[in-house]
Amino acid sequence: MPASDPIAPLSSADIDHWDHETDVAIVGFGGAGACAAIEAADQGASVVLLDLASEGGGSTRLSSAELYLGGNGGTAVQQACGFHDETADMVSYLRESAGDNAPMDKITAYCEGAAAHFAWLEELGVPFKRSFLDERAVMALTDDCLLYTGSETSWPYRDLAMPCPRGHNLQVEGDNGGPLLMDTLASRIGDRQIDVLLESRVLRLVTDGQGVVGLVYRRDLKEHTLRVRRGAVLCAGGFVMNDAMLEHYAPALKARGTIKTGNPGDMGSGILMGQGLGAAVENMHEGFISLAFYPPVPLTEGIFVNAEGQRFINEDCYHGRVGAKAMAQREGRSFLVFSVWDEFKPPPYLNAPIAGTGETVEELEGELGLPTGSLVQTLQRYNECAARDEDPAYHKDPRYLRVLEPPYAALDCTPGHGAFVPHFTLGGLVTTVDGQVLRDDGSAIPGLFAAGRTTAGVPRRGDGYASGLSVGDATFFGRRAGRSAALRSA
Ligand SMILES: Cc1cc2nc3c(=O)[nH]c(=O)nc-3n(C[C@H](O)[C@H](O)[C@H](O)COP(=O)(O)OP(=O)(O)OC[C@H]3O[C@@H](n4cnc5c(N)ncnc54)[C@H](O)[C@@H]3O)c2cc1C
Repeated sequence: MPASDPIAPLSSADIDHWDHETDVAIVGFGGAGACAAIEAADQGASVVLLDLASEGGGSTRLSSAELYLGGNGGTAVQQACGFHDETADMVSYLRESAGDNAPMDKITAYCEGAAAHFAWLEELGVPFKRSFLDERAVMALTDDCLLYTGSETSWPYRDLAMPCPRGHNLQVEGDNGGPLLMDTLASRIGDRQIDVLLESRVLRLVTDGQGVVGLVYRRDLKEHTLRVRRGAVLCAGGFVMNDAMLEHYAPALKARGTIKTGNPGDMGSGILMGQGLGAAVENMHEGFISLAFYPPVPLTEGIFVNAEGQRFINEDCYHGRVGAKAMAQREGRSFLVFSVWDEFKPPPYLNAPIAGTGETVEELEGELGLPTGSLVQTLQRYNECAARDEDPAYHKDPRYLRVLEPPYAALDCTPGHGAFVPHFTLGGLVTTVDGQVLRDDGSAIPGLFAAGRTTAGVPRRGDGYASGLSVGDATFFGRRAGRSAALRSA
């Protein structure tokens, strides 16, 4: 069976005994699953939380755990740092950045509830410092909290919604947010005496013909049956590790990304189990793809050009937006052209090789193999406008507009040419704002819920992604799915 085929459920008629039972079973102990478990337990349900790994955490543990939160006047950190964040501005920003794919019901629910979600996390013991990091950074490597993690201050978004920093970084030095978030959630799960089954791979759901009544998992080389009285919640992550699914649903992502970002469990098993029961999927071709070309900040003063020597983006955007636009160029070819400065240091995350250097633009153009005159013209036009603090073509923020003087150099940002271009998937099961899994006809599958990257959530498009949207969405909608499952009548 191809690894992209739906996983057929088992009929309850074929089960002669249940090994154990629970109100709510949660498949996957990452950010979504942990929050689903806590909420379900707080509604009074008995909960079994299963994960195939020997430690909970999933990709959430591996992540920086930046959380994209705001609205309602602002989270406690936004307010303490002097930012006022209107829900309507956050809605506008997310709507515009998701474009035609914008899931307005989820965006609205998220923006209305994100500040309260921040308070919930803090109450659980997740620490956030009251500080703003005013830097162009991929993540805070200090213990500072608030930073811009999207394209809010860049064109066209700055004209469509009032910019506000919404990336919330945990209070921990270095890139260690994920472990701290998951350790804190695991500790609260321990307080609630939730039954955690590790090294337990869920193989398939069990149905009575209407909906979900249980599941089968493998542990210690044996298959076990778990009866589920109220609901099963699929929080099994995305499908970036499943090549057959990537080939089938997201071939461009497979072809252009160089490093799969996630954990080995990102095999799409939650999506496939849902599909086995008739669930609909959406947004399956989309993914986050990163070209982390900053810091150092002066590289933002450079220009990205494609194989035709043409610009294609305002370089002050978030690295994921630049990455998505770069991948859309012919054969994914892109170069970052910049003026060499005295203490040039390559961007630490990107690892892109120097593709050419030149005392003149002509020399650089030749070394890059660009059509004769193309880069010369592009740079001449760019420099003329930059000298007037203008960028009529792409509206780059004047803070980053500078005449590019020789000597020049260019980084080759083309995937497959050495640059580190990580990616993960953004498509999944279709769910309601309360986590119910839907069929193509819009009807809900009784007893089946899902959240996180197993679903198509708030983060919809690579070119509109902002850091913190995935963990924000997974933890926020994980809670809602856990609550819905717990409150469903047995
Ligand atoms: C290095 C890195 C940095 C990142 N930084 C950020 C960031 O700062 N902010 C942000 O928003 N996003 C970030 N992301 C993305 C983000 O971490 C993930 O998209 C998000 O955490 C997914 O959460 P989840 O709960 O859906 O899945 P996960 O956290 O991956 O949890 C899924 C769990 O399901 C388990 N599982 C899968 N299949 C089964 C099965 N059949 N049976 C039992 N268990 C199963 C897995 O073992 C896993 O533990 C980053 C990702 C990486 C890898």
